[in-house]
Amino acid sequence: MNHTRRNFLKTTGILTGAALAGSAPDLTASNIIKGRSGKMKLSFKPYTLELKHVFTIATSSRTTTPVMLTEIEYDGIIGYGEASMPPYLGESQKTASEFLSKVDLEQFNNPYELEEILEYVDSIAPGNGAAKASVDIALHDLVGKMMNQPWYNIWGYDKDKTPYTSYTIGIDTPEVVREKVKEANQFKILKVKLGRENDKEMIETIRSVTNVDLCVDVNQGWEDKHMALDMIHWLKEKGIVFVEQPMPKTSIDDMAWLTENSPLPTIADEAMQRIPEVIKAHGVYSGINIKLMKCTGMREANKMATMAKALGMKVMLGCMTETSCAISAASHLSPIVDWADLDGALLIGNDPYEGTTVVDGKVILNDRPGIGLKKM
Ligand SMILES: [Mg+2]
Repeated sequence: MNHTRRNFLKTTGILTGAALAGSAPDLTASNIIKGRSGKMKLSFKPYTLELKHVFTIATSSRTTTPVMLTEIEYDGIIGYGEASMPPYLGESQKTASEFLSKVDLEQFNNPYELEEILEYVDSIAPGNGAAKASVDIALHDLVGKMMNQPWYNIWGYDKDKTPYTSYTIGIDTPEVVREKVKEANQFKILKVKLGRENDKEMIETIRSVTNVDLCVDVNQGWEDKHMALDMIHWLKEKGIVFVEQPMPKTSIDDMAWLTENSPLPTIADEAMQRIPEVIKAHGVYSGINIKLMKCTGMREANKMATMAKALGMKVMLGCMTETSCAISAASHLSPIVDWADLDGALLIGNDPYEGTTVVDGKVILNDRPGIGLKKM
């Protein structure tokens, strides 16, 4: 397509989809794509998230999270992405920068070929889940904007069926825990981090100030399957809804026994990465926790959710501490999951984006195209 034709299409609004088909010949999708002259350009910059509270899990405490913010620019449209890299997962701004420097998107002419482009990105090096997700998310955002549709529409999911998100209460002194629970009164489900000496005390402390639904995340903290089963029976009496990663990810036989006997659903988190782990989790856990930063992004996350549902497993959607960019990306999948833990952006004080929000504890998708972001 030459420049005159291209300018004509632009002037008449055909490239933006505003004109009626039939007013110009040969408006097939492939012709419109060929008409785009741009190259995809990937750029990235490090950013440090400041957490509102010190965040403590069974193995560590911290006050910041390093992330990498990405952009893919194509024909004047910009898609936004993000890699969030809590230190215990092994990626860093340095590894992400090294990985992203190797990504050459200019070899592709058609951003719609997500499958081929993302297979290439995945093949550059093993691991690097968060860095790969930062490309995947930016590409999805770009393509959604080119189509002028939000991803829940492109995937065919009902935006009203979003779940309530849980809100995480970290391990702390009883006074601080009670204070955090009171602050979290908009949430319909709270997530409690267990896996230390004071597990029962944590639950009793929270139950002394609220009757809201609770789920627990043990972060592999229970070593003995009989003790774990006793705890789960006790937790069920306290109104707990499900138990995330009760035992070490390597305790496969014990975990299968626990799930078989457990009165509450068990969810694989540390044991879950990508598609192969979904197959391994079948028969071992009741469900899986999908996180974009571990599974390389929206495309694989959607496949994992579809696969787990087909296997009769529960699906939970989780996150790291992330900006509204990665949280919004995940939220487009949330209408089809059983539980969501998408509180990551609520835990930080310097979110550079506005996107999917949480209102009275419910995940609220907006109508903007792509992943629905606005830069602050
Ligand atoms: Mg977890």
